[in-house]
Amino acid sequence: MVHTTIRTTQSEQIFTAAQKLMPGGVSSPVRAFKSVKGQPIVFDRVEGAYIWDVDGNRYIDYVGSWGPAICGHAHPEVIGALHEALEKGTSFGAPSVLENVLASMVINAVPSIEMVRFVNSGTEACMAVLRLMRAFTGREKIVKFEGCYHGHADAFLVKAGSGVATLSLPDSPGVPKSVTNNILVAPFNDITAVKALFEENPEEIAGVIVEPVVGNAGFITPDPMFLQGLRALTQEHGALLVFDEVMTGFRIAYGGAQEKFGVTPDLTTLGKIIGGGLPVGAYGGRLDIMSMVAPAGPVYQAGTLSGNPLAMTAGIKTLELLQKPGTYEYLDHITKKLVNRLLQIAEETGHAVCGGNISGMFGLFFNEGPVRNYKDAKKSDLVKFSHFHHGMLERGVYLPPSQFEAWFSCLAHTEEDIGQTLAAAWDVLSSI
Ligand SMILES: *Cc1c(COP(=O)(O)O)cnc(C)c1O
Repeated sequence: MVHTTIRTTQSEQIFTAAQKLMPGGVSSPVRAFKSVKGQPIVFDRVEGAYIWDVDGNRYIDYVGSWGPAICGHAHPEVIGALHEALEKGTSFGAPSVLENVLASMVINAVPSIEMVRFVNSGTEACMAVLRLMRAFTGREKIVKFEGCYHGHADAFLVKAGSGVATLSLPDSPGVPKSVTNNILVAPFNDITAVKALFEENPEEIAGVIVEPVVGNAGFITPDPMFLQGLRALTQEHGALLVFDEVMTGFRIAYGGAQEKFGVTPDLTTLGKIIGGGLPVGAYGGRLDIMSMVAPAGPVYQAGTLSGNPLAMTAGIKTLELLQKPGTYEYLDHITKKLVNRLLQIAEETGHAVCGGNISGMFGLFFNEGPVRNYKDAKKSDLVKFSHFHHGMLERGVYLPPSQFEAWFSCLAHTEEDIGQTLAAAWDVLSSI
């Protein structure tokens, strides 16, 4: 393959202007490409498996808007449903039947969810769940895991992976100690460490929150008995188990990680895919716990645009598309093909790389592996990742601009896209 240097002058001009208008020129940190020391491309439009930048270059996309675009960007049925919904107005701020439809779909899909509340982002869902865990148990301490990200609420900005890891901010300034004091941190996949925390803090731990498959420290899978271990420990100590399935929900299986691994938490947070590309989050779980949420109960949580009719519409249509037979099998098939061949190419070109996939969620570390937790992930060769990222971008493949992010495939990726991606990877890996 010939090395092609693409022209990105428009992207450069727009991003330069953006930096004077918005902090770092972006609306969310990882987008700024800081950890790959590059210049972000500025998008013009997205469709199927592709994105086009403002200079007219096309890229095969493995970010998928960070997960939501599982059916492919701008799926005609989603866009069609949105057109229809749009004619009825953009926001009601009042009940609509669309909420019932999406709520029923979520309750039917996700084993732990008997009742659900819609919010506007994954961050909001995790914030709400934190309050609810504490209200239900009357305890204040929370266990989280190194490298797991649960949105940008104060309490969760301790060893929070992805954007935070990327920028090497150990914690964020502005987060009071009094808030993070009650957050206990354990390494992912280390059940002994969690057990010790429960023993050191008897009857003080409200619950454990975990990304059942980590995506925000790169792609890390749980050891066979880890999630079961968390379920048993929380039950034994009267604490709640929360799966943050903002990324894994409807991604690694229709019913999320809890369906895939057969472990049912007490509460679940969702986001990304359930909004079908519009801003939505949700939290739900056991009826007795969810009945504590206002106005059914005393735990306050509200939102002007929550349950927004456009967002509900995009979510409903996206879930309908995902219910078609063979969806997750197809995602697994093309993703496995891509990952396995990438690992082979890395070996043939002499790079230490490990990685894997579950359905359409995957990742690679420039690292011998195995990567079982954040500490392992951090041993990766970040300089090499930057070169790889840059080379792939130049060859028309858009990957997450950080070693500590999961990659996503979608139903619109074809065998041909995979072939082109692998050809680009061969080219790049044999030159770095
Ligand atoms: C993306 C993500 C969040 C935050 O969701 P936002 O919609 O970005 O606020 C929380 N938890 C996990 C596991 C995520 O992947």
